[in-house]
Amino acid sequence: MIRPAAALVLAALLAGCSGGSAATSGGGQATGPAGCRTAAYPAAAADRPRYTLHLTIDPAAHRVQGTVAVAFTPDIATDRLVFRLWANGPVLRREGADMMAGPVTVDGAPAASHLADPTTLVVPRTIAAGATVHASLPFRLTLPQRAKDRISQNGTAIRLGSFFPLLPWEPGVGWALQPPTLANGETSSSPIADFDATIHAPAGLGVVAGGVPAGSGHWVADDVRDFAVATGDFTYVRRTVHAPGSVRLTVAVPGGVAEQADQAADEAQVAIEHLSRLYGPYPWKTLTLAYGPDLNEEGIEYPTILLEGPDRLGLITAHEIAHQWFYSLVGNDQARDPWLDEGFASFAGAETSGDLPYFAKVRLPPAAAGHMGAPMSYWDHNQDAYFAGVYAQPVQVLQSFGSQAKVECALRRYVARNAYEIATDADAVATFSTEFPDARAVFARAGVR
Ligand SMILES: [Zn+2]
Repeated sequence: MIRPAAALVLAALLAGCSGGSAATSGGGQATGPAGCRTAAYPAAAADRPRYTLHLTIDPAAHRVQGTVAVAFTPDIATDRLVFRLWANGPVLRREGADMMAGPVTVDGAPAASHLADPTTLVVPRTIAAGATVHASLPFRLTLPQRAKDRISQNGTAIRLGSFFPLLPWEPGVGWALQPPTLANGETSSSPIADFDATIHAPAGLGVVAGGVPAGSGHWVADDVRDFAVATGDFTYVRRTVHAPGSVRLTVAVPGGVAEQADQAADEAQVAIEHLSRLYGPYPWKTLTLAYGPDLNEEGIEYPTILLEGPDRLGLITAHEIAHQWFYSLVGNDQARDPWLDEGFASFAGAETSGDLPYFAKVRLPPAAAGHMGAPMSYWDHNQDAYFAGVYAQPVQVLQSFGSQAKVECALRRYVARNAYEIATDADAVATFSTEFPDARAVFARAGVR
């Protein structure tokens, strides 16, 4: 996501910085980094989780009810299933969200479960590596009203991000169990999966979601690590863009939200086409920008769908689309390594929108400088330094390497090598080290080891 610090937003607006949001003004290369050859993406893991979601959205009751069924095949042995209930994190709870989940059924039989904390539902179960279990559970979500957050309702305009029980599995590692963040950020980590969702909403209400619409409220999202939904009395702009394969771009703007759908589509088209030239093909068939109320100069990324507010700065859309490469395609543990997706999306997005100077001039306070690799638990206690430390500092570090083309090539290689997986600091440092011999020392000075 991105929510530039208020002082920075004001400074940028007063300075008239970053108005254009066009790749042609961003200094980026039209044909990708010169001489930067990368292999095709590997296929997503064949044993990825397969989710079936049934959702009923009830605006009048301020509620979403649903069931999650998932076929899960761990690649290493485990003694439990874990579902993260992010709606019960402290920030969303304070705003009025509440999720009840369970009872759980595993392989057709009732299964005991307990809440280790409000966001962590644990189902004790011995599962061998490579064995598949089928789990299902109902859930009920109370929607916070007019929240500046990923779950929110304002009349019929509803945002649903991180809103259903999700398996926080990191292949090769195990369950990601870090606490939810106290800041406006993410602590979610989840593997690439397939989603088949059926969404029931009141007749006439506009619905958009991740993946491909398949008629009658049915959505299919393959090879994605999360699934998000938005509703509203939308005005739509739809067009086909090339990234470089055909991608169906949809912009959905509900009444009362001051965003021009055509202009937003123009910005999104420029961004996805430019980013795909630099960092590798956009591998999915759709990209949806769902605008909504109560978000001001901020956006929240989900695979193939972005939740946004009006973007006067002109840098939000490019940042969130850049997350399709850095978070959505190459995942990371957002609690352990928040800089990996936020830092690289900030660089790639700012390069696209012409905002690298904006990030370059952000002053790093002592709590930020040298702490780039810190986990969200650190930023929870240093929230004033979070934007500078995790968004701006990586941009400044990458710019310190000197050659923008080689930085872009390193990022393209990072994408190609880690597509559909969950990357680590070591993966990033290793990739940059092939382009820059001093990369390991540079990252270490910034606090990434
Ligand atoms: Zn972001």
